[in-house]
Amino acid sequence: MKFDSLSPMPADPILGLMTQYRLDNHPHKIDLGVGVYKDEAGHTPILACVKAAEQHRIDTEETKVYIGPTGSADFNQLIAELAFSASHQVIEQNRVRTVSTPGGTGALRVAADFIKRVNPQAVIWVSDPTWANHTGLFEAAGITVKTYPYYDHDNKTLKFDEMLACLEQVSSDDVVLLHACCHNPSGMDLTNAQWDQIATLASDKSFTPLIDMAYQGFGDGVDEDAYGVRTVAAQVESMILCSSCSKNFGLYRERIGACSIIGKDSQAADIAFSVLLYVVRCIYSMPPAHGAAIVETILGSQELKQQWLDELAVMRNRINGNRAMLVDQLKALGVQRDFSFIASQKGMFSFLGINPQQVAEIQTKHSVYMVDSSRISIAGIGEANVDYLAKAIADVL
Ligand code: PMP
Repeated sequence: MKFDSLSPMPADPILGLMTQYRLDNHPHKIDLGVGVYKDEAGHTPILACVKAAEQHRIDTEETKVYIGPTGSADFNQLIAELAFSASHQVIEQNRVRTVSTPGGTGALRVAADFIKRVNPQAVIWVSDPTWANHTGLFEAAGITVKTYPYYDHDNKTLKFDEMLACLEQVSSDDVVLLHACCHNPSGMDLTNAQWDQIATLASDKSFTPLIDMAYQGFGDGVDEDAYGVRTVAAQVESMILCSSCSKNFGLYRERIGACSIIGKDSQAADIAFSVLLYVVRCIYSMPPAHGAAIVETILGSQELKQQWLDELAVMRNRINGNRAMLVDQLKALGVQRDFSFIASQKGMFSFLGINPQQVAEIQTKHSVYMVDSSRISIAGIGEANVDYLAKAIADVL
């Protein structure tokens, strides 16, 4: 084997953008690239509830011995209940099995290898567009990735009829990936009525839904954002859920998420779980424990959970406030183009809707950084820079 026969892979465009941003000396530079929450000061803070839970763990933890491929049983139960709700039929019927994973990405990779074992010919259908990592991640597991229509860039709407028509044709052996809330990259979510239709379709067509929930609580609220997960789970026989605690607990670098599978009954779930555990052992053997310990300490304490919900609301309200603020500022400047879609979309991202030349121009002329698709990270906006940003947008339009 000769490594010198390799040709270089393209660098991650967001990492490249971050480097360029760091090197830029412009006093008003704005980073709308990277998808992490930032406060008004541009910091990604550690939540106070996380600090408290972490201190508690340091004081009480007794061993660092291996945790086993499932990870922490308490975390697994609490994170599944956060997603489905403790009283959901799939929990009461004992049909859910969960493993702790290294982040939401780890959960998706475990899900991908699990799917490959269930059906080596499986096709996974992802939204057009979807999170950039989805395609590479599933292809790396040997799964064919196809797309269903989703975001209408021209009209800033959902191509829901086309999406339904496409999913009507999906085989019962296939998997359909859905974003639970705060769709990355479009910010365009399904309405509850549309989720009802998707749940019925999944049940009629018997395809397996894989729901990626990376932003629970960042859209409308912890329970509101789980409407799709809970509705689909109530109607289908089998389903996969991938959760991430990176954004809503601010635990990015701790790498904690979860992969939950639902079987048609408890026995089917047990068998599927044994396969899931085998898959885990073949990838990373066992998950890291620290992030799970923090989350289970928070969710297991009434007081810390309330503190978390309050801190999550601050992040959510800031994001939604930033959306409205940018739209208002553009209007106040007399910009003719209608940007109101930004205020109604949800989560960390929206497509601004400018072309790649304008993206390049806003970067070189105004030091405003975003990826070529014009996907903007809403948390990078703030009261201090919204006026500058709106003027820069108006200038390149
Ligand atoms: N899914 C989606 C849609 C995401 O946006 C992200 C994070 N960018 C993830 C999964 C993975 O999150 P992480 O691995 O950081 O927990």
